[in-house]
Amino acid sequence: MARRRQLYEGKAKILFEGPEPGTLVQYFKDDATAFNAQKKGTITGKGVLNNRISEYLMTRLAEIGVPTHFIRRLNMREQLIREVEIIPLEVVVRNVAAGSLSSRLGIPEGQRLPRSIIEYYYKNDQLGDPMVAEEHITCFGWASTQDLDDMVALTLRVNDFLTGLFLGVGITLVDFKLEFGRLWENEEMRIVLADEISPDNCRLWDAKTGEKMDKDRFRRDLGKVEEGYQEVARRLGILPEAGVRDMKGPEAMQ
Ligand code: UDP
Repeated sequence: MARRRQLYEGKAKILFEGPEPGTLVQYFKDDATAFNAQKKGTITGKGVLNNRISEYLMTRLAEIGVPTHFIRRLNMREQLIREVEIIPLEVVVRNVAAGSLSSRLGIPEGQRLPRSIIEYYYKNDQLGDPMVAEEHITCFGWASTQDLDDMVALTLRVNDFLTGLFLGVGITLVDFKLEFGRLWENEEMRIVLADEISPDNCRLWDAKTGEKMDKDRFRRDLGKVEEGYQEVARRLGILPEAGVRDMKGPEAMQ
């Protein structure tokens, strides 16, 4: 592929200029970080799996009418996406207590919540992504009340749909993080799902055994991290045929 201009490099992904105005290429790396990048590592094949898993989930969501930035997968590690104005919030949904909810509030990990909880975190590495309330979000102009209403409505739909989809393959969707962006079309603005949905930003537990199949295997040094991600892809029926070690580099699929 021709050399493209790199626009941004994050912890797990790189964004390149896309082939047409208003598009970007999202490249999935094997790099993994946790605890605000204090822990760093590599999970072999993670980028390939997350590219595929995110493609699959975004496509299923688009089919039920959830707008997303995803256009199509280009190759093993890249996807074409729409360029959006990222809203600087991480929207976390929780169905079962785990992670920071358990440690902050003393709710035992694994306890099913009586109803799903939505939390907001301000995307700012220097501040360590602090949790914020709606009041902060609207006061500082990170999103309007209307933006928030749209994000909550989409988040609840995504949660219901993904909870059912994962349960169908024997996986409990414990919690996950979404990011949204503003997509401008002519004079109209729409809030769309952005970033990725993958075991990097979801907690996925085997519905019977409770075995973790997500980034907690890396965060908590549980071992078999790649295997966890692979098992999620296998259950979704989308394990890349060529395997996850794309030593040949990107390869056009279309
Ligand atoms: N999460 C994420 N990015 C972050 C923080 C959290 O994708 O910067 C996801 C995480 O994978 C989990 C959910 O959001 O599925 C809730 O995470 P939590 O607040 O429990 O934080 P953690 O324990 O991961 O630090």
